[in-house]
Amino acid sequence: MRQIQIDYTGKEAFLEELKKFRKSADAAPKMMFQIFSEILEPDVVGEVSNAIEEVFPDTPWFGGSTSGNLVDCELSTKIIVVATIFEKESSQFEVFQYDTREMPVEEITRKITEDADARPWLRAIELYFTIPKGSSTKFCDGLKDVRPEVHMFGGVCCSDDITSDDSCVFSKAGGFSETAILVVFYGGEEFYVESIKVTGWKGLGRKFCVTKSEGSLLQELDGIPAYEVYHKYLHINNDENFFYNTLEFPLFYEHNNTTILRVPVASNADGSLSMSSDIDVGSIVRISYGDPKTIVESIAEDSRNIRNFHPDLLHIFSCAARRTFWTSNEPTYELEPFKDIAASIGFFSHGEFLREKCLNQHNVTLVIAAMREGEADLSEVQSISDSRATLSKIPLVSRLATFISATSLELEEMNNRLEIANKNLKSAAITDGLTGLFNRAETQWRIEQNLSNLKSEKFSLVMMDIDNFKQVNDTYGHQEGDAVIIALANILRNEQVCSSAKYSAGRWGGEEFMLVLPDTDVAAASLIAELIRKCFENTTFPSIRSQTISLGVTQANADDTIDSLCTRVDTALYRAKKTGKNKVVVS
Ligand code: GH3
Ligand code: MG
Ligand code: MG
Repeated sequence: MRQIQIDYTGKEAFLEELKKFRKSADAAPKMMFQIFSEILEPDVVGEVSNAIEEVFPDTPWFGGSTSGNLVDCELSTKIIVVATIFEKESSQFEVFQYDTREMPVEEITRKITEDADARPWLRAIELYFTIPKGSSTKFCDGLKDVRPEVHMFGGVCCSDDITSDDSCVFSKAGGFSETAILVVFYGGEEFYVESIKVTGWKGLGRKFCVTKSEGSLLQELDGIPAYEVYHKYLHINNDENFFYNTLEFPLFYEHNNTTILRVPVASNADGSLSMSSDIDVGSIVRISYGDPKTIVESIAEDSRNIRNFHPDLLHIFSCAARRTFWTSNEPTYELEPFKDIAASIGFFSHGEFLREKCLNQHNVTLVIAAMREGEADLSEVQSISDSRATLSKIPLVSRLATFISATSLELEEMNNRLEIANKNLKSAAITDGLTGLFNRAETQWRIEQNLSNLKSEKFSLVMMDIDNFKQVNDTYGHQEGDAVIIALANILRNEQVCSSAKYSAGRWGGEEFMLVLPDTDVAAASLIAELIRKCFENTTFPSIRSQTISLGVTQANADDTIDSLCTRVDTALYRAKKTGKNKVVVS
């Protein structure tokens, strides 16, 4: 396939150009006209389409409004007309136009899916949108059943004022519309297509978690109104210039297993941000910035892949923000590596679409579709010009952004370490070092908690003390003594022993322990105590004989304070000691 540009310099001159073109050998039976226009007036677009209708009444034409037109990777005139000529008998294309005012999005996507199903020759779907009123998620998700091998790509038409909502598409199929979606099918046995996206934008500063969102309304990041992130870090105000000011600092996040750049469409009075597609709670986002070096490097890499595909034609959808990023002196700087690969047309858009695993809308992204008819001619050696692959001088802003990112990363790592240390500290503050059970302070606190809830629940304590423990220490040494203490703690940790409830086990003193048993009456607590006693008695140690414990059990009553309750359980334990040890006494 090939393309021929037909100059538009006014109605009459264009008509003449078209007539000349018809007479030339270039005009072909299988052909379509693509029109990109920075001028949105229906009359002007009508002049172009009427002329085409007059000279080529049977040839399809379609196009849309743009924020700048690209021919062969260079910014072109305000209106461009290109004839795309298909040379293979098997190649096919079809143009559809759906008005979103007449058809709900679900119906449009169902129709596209059905049409795609009915055309086994289909290889690619190109989409031209007018600026959508809300989220594009429904549209993208609606096309999920289109055969996975079909490429999908496209862009949102707009105007040269990128802050304006004005846009239009037009075609022989549906006329001029400010609310339609244009769909172009390409395919055939000998039609090949490849599609890629390039961003080169990098995360800047720290990560934020989406803590509140509703569809495409991003309400909160890390619990604060989303707008405040832009205000705090970039000093962007919540006013009518918000969109323009954030354009070069889109949010960067993972969605559908792909990285997405998303510019907030608007900031709202409550500090929420309107996005162009849904953003899920839990998404991790970062503000991002364009780093010239990363952009140039990623483009050099991707242009090699496109070059190896040996395309006949490229269709380019590049965000208007990228045009302003490279400044008015060099708006197409980054497209240089694609120049000598193949002829191309494209435009600066308001949003870019690409199907990777799923179809997604992107912002600030460059989407390129490479098309070819027939097998690639691999004998044709393509020279690779790497002249622009590296920038000799990294701009100051890029160095500063790298500095900020590196510093944020360091802070993030330090923060993570602090969080872990904090967790450990908290845990250490309530844990007994030797046994890993709760310490006395925490056990006391838990008893108090249970006492304050007592009206609705019953609650019991079991206190225990190892019998004749001094002897163990004296005979076998402190270390063996510790092993005995740990063995008892392990029994108390065993949930099968204390099966009754959400209990807590704490070390009360040297070899004294306390079980806090919510939801447990004295009878159940006594059974647990007896089980522990038996269990401990049957525990064997490598070098000392088995040991025993004495236990006191009591149930809290409505008049109890922590002192009266603890004194009562302590008295029960004392009675167990006094009456022969290795037993459970209830008080
Ligand atoms: P009784 O049957 O009346 O409880 O006799 P007992 O010998 O166990 O007497 P008591 O409870 O007064 O003795 C506690 C001993 O526990 C005293 C102390 O040396 C020992 N002890 C306290 N804490 C630890 C510890 O962390 N490790 C070891 N090995 N011994 C400890
Ligand atoms: Mg003891
Ligand atoms: Mg003791």
